[in-house]
Amino acid sequence: MITLKKPDEIERMRRAGRIVADVLIMMEDLIKPGVDTLSLDEAAEDLILRAGAKAAFKGYRVAGIPSPFPSAICVSINEEVVHGSPSRERLLREGDIVSIDVGAVIDGYYGDAARTFPVGPVSPGRAFLMEVTYKALHMGIGQVKPGNTIGDIGHAVETWVLGQGCGLVRDYAGHGIGRRMHEAPQVPNHGRPKNGLTLKAGMTFCIEPMVMSGAEPVKSLSDGWTVVTKDGSDAAHFEHAMLVTEDGVEILTPWE
Ligand code: MG
Repeated sequence: MITLKKPDEIERMRRAGRIVADVLIMMEDLIKPGVDTLSLDEAAEDLILRAGAKAAFKGYRVAGIPSPFPSAICVSINEEVVHGSPSRERLLREGDIVSIDVGAVIDGYYGDAARTFPVGPVSPGRAFLMEVTYKALHMGIGQVKPGNTIGDIGHAVETWVLGQGCGLVRDYAGHGIGRRMHEAPQVPNHGRPKNGLTLKAGMTFCIEPMVMSGAEPVKSLSDGWTVVTKDGSDAAHFEHAMLVTEDGVEILTPWE
């Protein structure tokens, strides 16, 4: 069921979104060559708890994966697309690209956002991939206003990404968000104009394009969580949670 959020619910979602944004902004300073990825997770969870919220990903369970997600953030490096886990042994190296995805819940309402960072100077190919993915997110956001459809969002993302010669991850999609981290509707990164659900003021959802430099499908590793590109090509991921307003869109996770 798709719920239209009331003003007091939206206010709580702004608070959750602000915390998530603050984690991603903090990462700008923490991400550098030689840093272990568990220390990023510890810093993220500390910020979330000090803000009076809880880390939404930690302990998250998905049907078909035996173990709950172990950490506050997903840390996905290079060919990892999403849902990578941090560890003390896993260090960032100069030239890597690392996607950080974070969720927080406060007063029963969720925030969720993601962003790919360069670790020091990166290759032109990796810089291009990040730029294309970031712009894909904004192509999608550009379609968000009452009267447009979920298909308009997906079409804008897909057309942009394929037009840049990159590969689009089709197995994972954006999603409604609010009292749960994942609600209806699904927000795919592909679609047809004027198709699917019509957007209305009060809807809240995440748009999150996942883009690869290659074109093969993705696969999951044996931990059940980590999703990687099948051909080993690089991947990037950017996400905002947002509210459909009377005249357009409000970003609920302002990390920019
Ligand atoms: Mg999400």
